[in-house]
Amino acid sequence: MIPLSEAQQYVLSQCAPLPAESFPAFDALGLVTAEPIESTEQVPPFDNTAVDGYAVIAADTADAPTVLQVAGAIAAGEAPTVDVTPGTAVRIMTGAPMPAGADAVVMVENTENPDGADAVRILEGVSSGAAVRRAGEDMQPNQTVFESGTLLQPGHIGVLATLGIASISAHRRPLVGVMSTGDELVEGPQALAPGQIRDSNRHTILSLVAQAGCDTVDLGLIRDDEDAVEAALRSGAASCDALITSGGVSMGDFDFVKMVLKRIADMRWMQIAIKPAKPLAFGTLDGTPIFGLPGNPVSSMVSFELFARPGLRLMRGIPLEDAHRPRVLGTADEAMRRGPDGKTHFARVEVRWENGQAFFRSAGGQGSHQLSAMAAASGLALLPDGSGVEAGDQAELVLLHAS
Ligand code: AMP
Ligand code: MG
Repeated sequence: MIPLSEAQQYVLSQCAPLPAESFPAFDALGLVTAEPIESTEQVPPFDNTAVDGYAVIAADTADAPTVLQVAGAIAAGEAPTVDVTPGTAVRIMTGAPMPAGADAVVMVENTENPDGADAVRILEGVSSGAAVRRAGEDMQPNQTVFESGTLLQPGHIGVLATLGIASISAHRRPLVGVMSTGDELVEGPQALAPGQIRDSNRHTILSLVAQAGCDTVDLGLIRDDEDAVEAALRSGAASCDALITSGGVSMGDFDFVKMVLKRIADMRWMQIAIKPAKPLAFGTLDGTPIFGLPGNPVSSMVSFELFARPGLRLMRGIPLEDAHRPRVLGTADEAMRRGPDGKTHFARVEVRWENGQAFFRSAGGQGSHQLSAMAAASGLALLPDGSGVEAGDQAELVLLHAS
């Protein structure tokens, strides 16, 4: 068996960002920039007011309460037509440009209109610059607003819109083919014949791939037949950026994924010192990464989390330091025992948060076939080789619902 870190290093070293393409800015959510984004304009484009109120000369308010003559009004979207001169104020709405002459805004809450619209009583003085948002205070022209390698979140899309940037250069989203292998597998609601089970992995993995920000192709259910497996791998590798298979990578007589990958791909079969998900067949076929995940439903999910998800995220252009799920230290709410076997166990746990601290308890049956506990799990607790944890002990947690 090899350590997890060695296996991860090997796999991830072969997952490179996909080429850059031009994308419309408004379709760029979740893409990763391939070039820095430069601002072309200053933001805000002009000095404007942060509040609804009265644009004033700050010095005129020094003796507040004081009365100023109202010379006009400016709504957001209008260009100012009146200047503020000593002894006067201009009614102004949030976002409207500052009129010439004014250097501060008194918020409407600090004013009264006792004598009708023509005059305003300023109840509290302001200093120069109060409630004024300066041109260029957010972004300057020719500034790098985000670096290359930025994962575009909703706020970034807003910045692109603000700057009037219509298209950006980003790494292409991987198209990932997913197939299951196994003669015991069937699909659909019909009654199961003896020995049959329903294919769950393909649908789980398609969902995981989509959640990992990639496009999916369902490559179906492949029989345990060497030619069928080879044909599926070859055509999948030719049409997809990455392939994910499940089953057929252990020590069984019909584990054809491993056999075929060994023959046609640049493949390394690994026995990793973890439980579940000990075997992994990872290879590249004409440059396409193929993740041969183990067949047990929990194993395939854990293997996906530890290898395929970070690998696919690297292909999206996400930097290595952000490729993995976040981990925190948590406290066991109850004992979770295990026996020594030379492996790190990834126990399926429910994570509970209290005052910013993480606590965990078993999410259910810990067998690698017990998918219900994996479905219920919000974390994986790393139980190092040994006897497990007692209530109150700490363990590292992989947070499955965080990116
Ligand atoms: P294998 O790695 O092919 O030996 O499969 C290991 C175990 O996982 C066996 O019990 C299989 O029946 C089960 N298994 C394999 N593929 C799937 C799948 N797609 N859905 C559900 N169970 C599976
Ligand atoms: Mg099988």
